[in-house]
Amino acid sequence: MKNKTLFIKNVKAIISCDSNDQVYENMNIFIESGVIKDISNKVYEAEKTIDATGMIIYPGLINTHHHLYQIFTRNLPEVQNMELFPWLLHLYEIWKNLDADTIRFSSLVGMGELLKTGCTTCFDHHYVFPNNVANNLIDVQFEAATELGIRMHCSRGSMSLSKKDGGLPPDAVVQSVEEILNDSERLIKEYHDSEPYSMRQMVLAPCSPFSVTGELMKKSAELARKYNVRLHTHLCETIDEENFTIEKFGMRPLEYMKSLGWIGDDVWFAHGIHFNDEELELLAKTKTGVAHCPVSNMKLSSGIARISEMQKMEIPVGLAVDGSASNDGSNILEEIRVAYLLQRLKYSNESIGGYEILKLATNGGAEILGRQHDLGSLKVGKAADLFMIDSNRIELVGTQYDYKAMLGTVGVKGSVDYTIVNGNVVVENGKLVNIDEKKVALKANILVEKLNCSN
Ligand code: ZN
Repeated sequence: MKNKTLFIKNVKAIISCDSNDQVYENMNIFIESGVIKDISNKVYEAEKTIDATGMIIYPGLINTHHHLYQIFTRNLPEVQNMELFPWLLHLYEIWKNLDADTIRFSSLVGMGELLKTGCTTCFDHHYVFPNNVANNLIDVQFEAATELGIRMHCSRGSMSLSKKDGGLPPDAVVQSVEEILNDSERLIKEYHDSEPYSMRQMVLAPCSPFSVTGELMKKSAELARKYNVRLHTHLCETIDEENFTIEKFGMRPLEYMKSLGWIGDDVWFAHGIHFNDEELELLAKTKTGVAHCPVSNMKLSSGIARISEMQKMEIPVGLAVDGSASNDGSNILEEIRVAYLLQRLKYSNESIGGYEILKLATNGGAEILGRQHDLGSLKVGKAADLFMIDSNRIELVGTQYDYKAMLGTVGVKGSVDYTIVNGNVVVENGKLVNIDEKKVALKANILVEKLNCSN
């Protein structure tokens, strides 16, 4: 539902996540044309008014790493007990049959779940472009995002190093450097909007050091910098990957990426588990970012990222669900809770707290995506991206002493009550507003069967 003005009144608590860590109590929010115009006691006339009595409002969460297509290969019994490399080798054989329908419906399902769990900006890392399929998969993702009403950062991912050339993926999902770069440039020109409050941006994202040639990494960085778009890839997820780059290039993963120009405040890496002390220093110095994916890291037995140390060193860190074949869901609220617990387990009283984790999922994500000026906190002039939770749920009784930390310390299960993106209500009373959830789920399950039987 689109509206030019929105008035949210009688909010119990607004956790702004601004630079003063301001919490507003019993206040109203007035939104016009997708932007927060006022947070005060003032009363406004608006096209739509929400009575938020008893509600807590948080800034919209930002997901900094995902593979939406993987939702259709989640919970497969045969890969439940595998680590990354064997897990990938098995799944490539299914993923080579992806098509536009699979992408459309996995995007609707995954981003639907994200919206229902408070996420308002989604970054997706799509890197599988099967040889026999038209090059329109990213276009289809943008359409799905528009249909749902979520803010979308897509990436033109890629794989260019097949098994026969010493990489991991099969030929059927590998493309030439020229083909990849041409399509990357086309997508940037067609979709990348760098204006404030933009709903669509592009990122260039070759898949990983073990599925892409050094030449493609280098040329992608040059192209991204020509158009001022960001760069993303997987890095330091496993020891297998570290052994691969040492053996093949005589360098540790970060050193290898640095040699290809992949360092700086326009670059962020997914996972970043196995960085050593010196490498953390380099990330801090260059403001190179990390997308932390705690559930995926646990599921694939990859390890625990040094997030508490990274936060103290002011390395940009965002939170992410990762692809649903290694998670197996798109619930970003769950990620906040798990990140909190995992850091507690590793660092005890040196761990970052629940509120700091929330700030990674808001401020941190915004910084990584280059959106710190218009996203990531609630204040006048910022985009009206937020979500609301009724504090009078039975499972939240007794949590009122620290709403800032609550999403980490206590955790919120299930759907939020409202999600608002760009000033528009996209989740209302826990349900998606712009699609028929049941219809989409039924159709999606038919496509899941088709994909998994095609192999
Ligand atoms: Zn990933």
